[in-house]
Amino acid sequence: MKPSIAIIGAGLAGLTLARELRAHAEITLFEKARGLGGRMSTRRRDQHRWDHGAQFFTARSRAFKALLKPFIETGAVVEWQPNITTLSPDQAPYKRPWFEPHYVAAPGMNGLLKAMSPGLNITLQTRVETLEQQNGQWRLFDDQGKCLGEFDWVISSAPLPQTEALLPLAADTWAGFDMQPCYALMLKVDDQDLPVWDAAQVNDSPLRWIAFNHRLPGRNRNLGAVVAHSTADWAGAHLEDDQEQVKHTLTAEFCALTGVSPQAVQEAQLHRWRYALATEVENDPVGYVLDAERKLAACGDWCLGGRVEAAFSSGHRLAARLRQLL
Ligand SMILES: Cc1cc2nc3c(=O)[nH]c(=O)nc-3n(C[C@H](O)[C@H](O)[C@H](O)COP(=O)(O)OP(=O)(O)OC[C@H]3O[C@@H](n4cnc5c(N)ncnc54)[C@H](O)[C@@H]3O)c2cc1C
Repeated sequence: MKPSIAIIGAGLAGLTLARELRAHAEITLFEKARGLGGRMSTRRRDQHRWDHGAQFFTARSRAFKALLKPFIETGAVVEWQPNITTLSPDQAPYKRPWFEPHYVAAPGMNGLLKAMSPGLNITLQTRVETLEQQNGQWRLFDDQGKCLGEFDWVISSAPLPQTEALLPLAADTWAGFDMQPCYALMLKVDDQDLPVWDAAQVNDSPLRWIAFNHRLPGRNRNLGAVVAHSTADWAGAHLEDDQEQVKHTLTAEFCALTGVSPQAVQEAQLHRWRYALATEVENDPVGYVLDAERKLAACGDWCLGGRVEAAFSSGHRLAARLRQLL
């Protein structure tokens, strides 16, 4: 009989792991959100859409390029060639070229995860809260205390602090990893009220990135949707501030930087990512956490330094190791 594995979290790392192990194990994924995406989510309001987490990704390893190839062929992943600029409060904007292909998923960033998910056993809207070991099996419980089943292995692909709270592993397991917060501001602004550039890297400001999301490939250009991200330092300093005030401050900063009239902003929403971006990991990391004896493991971007490709690589590397063990 194949071993059973519970994977907590259906972001890119969890889905990669599930796809690469499904021939070797009975896999169940548990995801607390209503839909797939994790930090590659797309928020919808009316007909507008905002990719309020990851903005684009690069593909450097052969394995990640191989994953993307069929999705590029079907149009679920598209190269993005924006007119990109650099902004700062005291300097004239200057154009900033990219030297390698940058990709987005379509019609929203979660499109890649949706395309990867067919055939996988995913239970949505289920937050795994605790685990306990009984007779060599792991029993999982949700936040209502309901038992979610018994499994041989439990693997968390949740962000670092959530994984740390879930898995009963030694405290020093987590040394060397860290994650930082970020605010995502989402605005409705008609396209004709926006500058001609498509995205901007921002310096010397509470904001670090602005993108006119509706101009990405596969989106509707008529539904003007702006995404602006704060710096990690600014988010950290204002994490518990009144959220209306944070929204107001960041919207005013957006208008000041871009010259967009405050009257042109029809609606503003804010998302607080408490665990947004993983910091670089030093010393040639293995790319996952594994306790083979207790049959517990973890993967995710934070194991390799916090980017979309890092999430893939972490799931991919852990799958290769587990195929040797199962
Ligand atoms: C604002 C922002 C901007 C970014 N920009 C870029 C960018 O431009 N380029 C780039 O390459 N990367 C970017 N990133 C990083 C990129 O989004 C991540 O590296 C990648 O999406 C991480 O994937 P993951 O599978 O490791 O984690 P996640 O996507 O976080 O997946 C983990 C999943 O676990 C679920 N979960 C957590 N706890 C539980 C629980 N107890 N029970 C059940 N489910 C649970 C979560 O809901 C989530 O879906 C950005 C991230 C953010 C937040």
